[in-house]
Amino acid sequence: MANPWAVAKFGGTSMANEEAIRRSASVVKDKGDIQMVVVSATSGTTNQLLDLVEKTQTVKWEVCQQVIEAIRIKHLKIARAMECDDETQKAVDKLLKELETIARGMFLLKDPSLKAIDRIQSIGERLSSHFMRKALLDLGYRKVNYLDARDIIRTNDHFGKALPDITAIEKNANEKLIPELKQGSLFVTQGFIGSTKDGFTTTLGRGGSDYSAALFGEAVHAKDIQIWTDVSGVATTDPRICPAAKPIREISFEEAAELATFGAKVLHPTTLWPAMRKDIPVFVGNSMAPSDPGTWIKSSADVQPLLRAMAIRKNQSLLTLTTPRMLHTYGFLANVFEVFKKHQLSVDLITTSEISIAITLDNSEIVDGDLMEDLQQFAAVKVDHDLSLISLIGNNIQSTAGLSRDIFSEIADVNVRMICVGASEHNICFLVNKGDGERVLQKLHGKFLEN
Ligand code: ADP
Ligand code: ASP
Ligand code: MG
Repeated sequence: MANPWAVAKFGGTSMANEEAIRRSASVVKDKGDIQMVVVSATSGTTNQLLDLVEKTQTVKWEVCQQVIEAIRIKHLKIARAMECDDETQKAVDKLLKELETIARGMFLLKDPSLKAIDRIQSIGERLSSHFMRKALLDLGYRKVNYLDARDIIRTNDHFGKALPDITAIEKNANEKLIPELKQGSLFVTQGFIGSTKDGFTTTLGRGGSDYSAALFGEAVHAKDIQIWTDVSGVATTDPRICPAAKPIREISFEEAAELATFGAKVLHPTTLWPAMRKDIPVFVGNSMAPSDPGTWIKSSADVQPLLRAMAIRKNQSLLTLTTPRMLHTYGFLANVFEVFKKHQLSVDLITTSEISIAITLDNSEIVDGDLMEDLQQFAAVKVDHDLSLISLIGNNIQSTAGLSRDIFSEIADVNVRMICVGASEHNICFLVNKGDGERVLQKLHGKFLEN
């Protein structure tokens, strides 16, 4: 049975400065049922930290120091504006010192290991969570527990994109959180970060704070998981590309999961898994307009339109593997996928013909020269970079006649590189050249979702 408490996550823009942090804290107070607050780093900080990492490997220490200084100034400015107490100020100073120490280590050792990068990235969330705690105290909460997420979110050691250990997380939550939550305690903690069983800091991948909130929600059996961001819910597509996009009131887990996987940045792709496992509704709302209706994501939505939303995923690579050896043999696909397994790469889309397989991956995943070498043992490999994947998401897509005709006749002038339909009743997607991506999305959104 669900407990009376909710878990709420506030993203980077909701934590951008004193004003945004206080506004987000007010959302917590006004809602009344939130007992776990999960925060992202202040807006832009994770990017700055990654920029710093890059600089430690490429330029003089003085230039690295400028980035450290910019991060320091930003956070000290917030600390000052919030009139932080001595304890909070000390904690902030200690984290800024840690930042400099790790950066210096990376610079001297020229060690850009993912393990070191995770440690440095964790500082963003560890800083911002102190400010959220202070803002909540200022709203009159007598006690706000600062929780180090690394004490709860156990992961494997796949640094940079670690996988959570659900059983260990649940055990930690049972021991350390649930008894306190039952007493009415309020916790503030960090999204994005976790730790291995040996205590090394990990991260869950970019945008991973949403996932953290869902993992906490699952572990404490929350009544709902709230994702507070800078738009008023999950929209029919990215409002930055189609300003006419409208928030969706209600959407099923399956549809929202497809949308997130295929590029809707508003939710980290894996956010919905924990919610689905425990059937916990997820709310997406705007921390700057908290009374807007927002979006509810639930096991099933009242209305199930053929097309509900669209997404674009940029920077895709298409690998085409061709060999006559594929003809009438068995085991070929198994061998090829063994290579992807070895390189720990997840393949997104696949189509096959008699003698070739086409596969999509994110551009960033095929920087690995060894991957090419391994694949070339089985087939000739051709790679096309910089494609955009367009996905149309809805219901009964497999069993509705005429949809493909309507889609492709609308974009008849566009060269479509690969089409995937049939694997999911919620999704039809295809690849186009980078230059066509946004225009295709706008055209299809106009035709199917704007009236
Ligand atoms: P946060 O920092 O709160 O995690 P993100 O920037 O990660 O926020 O996600 C919110 C952004 O996601 C929005 O500003 C919007 O541009 C983008 N976005 C992409 N697709 C969608 C969509 N379908 N609905 C709403 N927002 C979307
Ligand atoms: N701060 C991290 C990032 O920018 C995680 C998050 O905000 O969700 O990727
Ligand atoms: Mg995000």
